[in-house]
Amino acid sequence: MADIRGGDIDVLLVGAGLQNSLLATALAHHRPGLRIELIEARPAIGVEHAWSFFESDVPKESWPWLDQLIVKRWPAHELRFPGYTRIIPRAYCTVGGARLAERVEELPGVAIECGREAVELRPGEVLCADGLRLRAPLIIDGRGPSRPPMEGAAWQKFLGLELRLARPCTIAQPIVMDATVAQDDGYRFVYVLPFADDRVLVEDTCFSVSPDLDPALFRARALAYAASLDLEIETSIREEQGVLPMPYRETAQGLDANPLQRGEESALLRAGFRGGWYHPATAYGFPVAVRLADCVAHHFGANLDTGLRELALEIASQSRFARLLNRMLFQLVPATSRWRIFERFYRLPEPSIARFYALRTTLADRARILVDHPPFASWFRLPGAGGVRA
Ligand SMILES: Cc1cc2nc3c(=O)[nH]c(=O)nc-3n(C[C@H](O)[C@H](O)[C@H](O)COP(=O)(O)OP(=O)(O)OC[C@H]3O[C@@H](n4cnc5c(N)ncnc54)[C@H](O)[C@@H]3O)c2cc1C
Repeated sequence: MADIRGGDIDVLLVGAGLQNSLLATALAHHRPGLRIELIEARPAIGVEHAWSFFESDVPKESWPWLDQLIVKRWPAHELRFPGYTRIIPRAYCTVGGARLAERVEELPGVAIECGREAVELRPGEVLCADGLRLRAPLIIDGRGPSRPPMEGAAWQKFLGLELRLARPCTIAQPIVMDATVAQDDGYRFVYVLPFADDRVLVEDTCFSVSPDLDPALFRARALAYAASLDLEIETSIREEQGVLPMPYRETAQGLDANPLQRGEESALLRAGFRGGWYHPATAYGFPVAVRLADCVAHHFGANLDTGLRELALEIASQSRFARLLNRMLFQLVPATSRWRIFERFYRLPEPSIARFYALRTTLADRARILVDHPPFASWFRLPGAGGVRA
């Protein structure tokens, strides 16, 4: 007879990554008493890397449960391009992978089972690799992103080194993009997070049409950049890398308009990267993951379908615009000129930039981005929109 467990679980979260860890935290905060089970294929929950985001990316209502996860907050951040440096007085925050795992382990009402792999998911039931069937009225699939290759997408690929310094560093705030570096493999920039006087993350990044990442090359470039900042490295503490999709076709890992699949008195929600809940133009998932976690926690029990449909419609409309920008960037702009698009974008008024990252662009923001965008302007022969500078 099949081994079946359930009956005492209200929500079953499959995959203990970013999305489901945030969901568990938000549900435990807003719905105390709920019985939540979290299953994870790996032997333990938690990752070594961190997730960063702009404070303005997440709604104010989320801070009561989100605040405890922040390991570092800087009041401003910086952008560097060949023509200018801009310091933007908007806070940048980091949530630590270890801190998130610790907090999830402490949550009341949340049972965690590691080393359990899900192989089949449907509304109300999950089949595990060892034949166990787990049942719950609501199943949330947070098994993470699909791996390359993916049709209709370009890639954000990066390798970061967290460095211990022998001498205090003088970098005061995150450098979110330093594009003054040699342009190679699409748009290339370096990302720098000064976690402490003696600890800094230096990440070499490309927005590229190819998912291939040569670790030795990226590592060497990150170290060369650290040397150019005059950082005296004692040791490299940690390395992280990623190849994340930047889709430009609607078919490439998009968001379902109706993300909740209904069964008989049960449901399945595809969440996180797996469900298309991320920003196509940054390949980052944190801000949308927070909004989805809050939405599920607020609407749980009643109006979940409506709440999710409304959020999905909003994110899908924003995502369509972001995909259009990706299409223009990767299909109309020569690889060596892509940095100029970003150089123009970051000259926009600060609130427009903030809304773009938060997936909350207004029609006026969109018009402004497009009119300022040389390939689009030349398509439509907009007078005075400006071309790519020589
Ligand atoms: C190194 C790195 C740094 C990043 N930094 C940022 C950042 O700073 N800001 C940002 O917004 N985004 C960042 N991202 C991108 C994005 O936010 C993350 O990829 C995010 O973790 C996606 O969340 P998720 O929950 O969908 O998937 P994941 O966090 O990948 O979680 C998926 C989980 O499901 C588990 N799993 C998979 N298959 C099964 C199965 N069959 N059964 C059970 N469990 C399973 C996995 O082991 C994993 O724990 C980063 C990505 C990487 C790789």
